[in-house]
Amino acid sequence: MNVIIFGPPGAGKGTQALNIVNKFNLYQISTGDLLRNEVKNKTDIGRDIENIISKGDFATDEIVNKLIENAVFDPKKRNNLIFDGYPRSLSQAKNLKILLDNSNQKIDFIFFLNVKKDIIIQRIKKRKILEKRSDDNLNTILKRFDTYMETTKPVLDYYSKNQNFYEIDGGAEIDEISSKIEEILSV
Ligand code: AMP
Repeated sequence: MNVIIFGPPGAGKGTQALNIVNKFNLYQISTGDLLRNEVKNKTDIGRDIENIISKGDFATDEIVNKLIENAVFDPKKRNNLIFDGYPRSLSQAKNLKILLDNSNQKIDFIFFLNVKKDIIIQRIKKRKILEKRSDDNLNTILKRFDTYMETTKPVLDYYSKNQNFYEIDGGAEIDEISSKIEEILSV
């Protein structure tokens, strides 16, 4: 099966994706991780996107579309994909459909982890005190949240009509969210 998990920053996509990967033997395709790798390896793409990512803006569709192509066409990962953080725009959603059609695959489950802005603010403030993380910059996170909501609204409208679309309360406890997702995937 192929799965999409999406939701705003702080919704817990990565945590949930990892849980599904372990329980259902899927391959996680995280465009955030792929982009951070490009930056770490100082590739041409990495140099182009470094500032964009740190400001909380989105990389271009062209860049991320190219990054996921290898995974979609990899025979080993065929029908075992979980997309985490992709698609984030309508153009990316349409591109994914074309890539999957061209490789005779489809999306079986779409999960939207919905979390309200005030809960994200609370979580980040708490995490900052507990973990003293230097990257929990509230302004950046809030900017990412707004960019996300703005750009992702059309993706939500595009997918929410599908029968295999599931909206999950991302404000719930991690285990509770995992159980709900697992229950749906196990049917
Ligand atoms: P994430 O780890 O998914 O929160 O992504 C971290 C950052 O990478 C985002 O704030 C964006 O700047 C960039 N990014 C990740 N996925 C995408 C995407 N599908 N389209 C555009 N930019 C992305």
